[in-house]
Amino acid sequence: MPKKVAIITGSSKGIGKAIAIAFAKSKEYSAVVINSRKKEEAEQVAEEIKNSGAICDSIAILADVSKESDCIRLIEETIKHFGRIDVLVNNAGIQEDIPLAETNLEEWYKIIAVDLTGPFICSREAVKYMRKQDNPKGGCIINISSVHQTIPKPHYIPYATSKAGIEMMTKTMALELAKDSIRANIVAPGAIDTDMNIQLRENKVALENVLKLIPMGRVASAEEVANVVEFLASDKASYITGQSYFVDGGMTLYPSFGITSEHEDAERNVTSNSDNLSDG
Ligand code: NAP
Repeated sequence: MPKKVAIITGSSKGIGKAIAIAFAKSKEYSAVVINSRKKEEAEQVAEEIKNSGAICDSIAILADVSKESDCIRLIEETIKHFGRIDVLVNNAGIQEDIPLAETNLEEWYKIIAVDLTGPFICSREAVKYMRKQDNPKGGCIINISSVHQTIPKPHYIPYATSKAGIEMMTKTMALELAKDSIRANIVAPGAIDTDMNIQLRENKVALENVLKLIPMGRVASAEEVANVVEFLASDKASYITGQSYFVDGGMTLYPSFGITSEHEDAERNVTSNSDNLSDG
């Protein structure tokens, strides 16, 4: 019987939900904890997992990760129900489009609280249990960041700052916790088809503009992100810690340096020259 217990914050929809379902299907987990602030949506995902025929229990714990007391309760209720925490995925995240000059302190703190402080508190609390448990020993933290941990994003300063901060937080945690058999890694998505990106579903021009930035020429599904999280959380990734995995179709590869019509002309010339040589 699998023994591992996972908590995925912000798992009532989008990437978090896809991660929860991937974990449940993997047969590696005895329980998956669903979290969000909205009761009905979170409970629906837990029910979906329990009714899926997977050998995995699931409960919904409502908690706002921007609040310290909620993060502490999320971890403690998980321990009360399942007795251990093997994997914590800090996935809950929000963003808002506001120019710098209009970003007041309330907006700044609101986004930092969910995207950076929440992962810090949840990790701090989970580690208290991870470092004490055995069979399996230790645990694993996966922070869902973004390509904007490295690519600047005008109008999204608190968001990009949180995601950049989470990179150093993860590396530092990885170094500090390696001796306790606790791994910490990042999965950093590019453009993913979720409610956070609703404008890409509804606005053709917005979609075309984003696609120009993606060498693979398409937006990804939440499941494509979940696959990488599932791998990093598994024993197959047992020697990986402190790393960032970009799931971005090449978005971080400086797409403006990609193949241009000049490259294509040069490639055509090389091909026709070599055809001529072989003819002769
Ligand atoms: P989403 O579809 O908007 O889902 C966000 C989830 O987080 C929901 O379950 C939401 O539920 C929950 N949530 C929001 N605030 C919360 C809070 N304070 N406490 C607890 N739960 C909260 O977003 P997504 O696209 O799946 O994004 C998931 C993560 O991936 C985020 O960290 C995001 O920054 C990152 N990401 C996404 C993309 C993308 O293209 N979609 C790209 C790069 C990075 P409630 O609102 O009911 O609480």
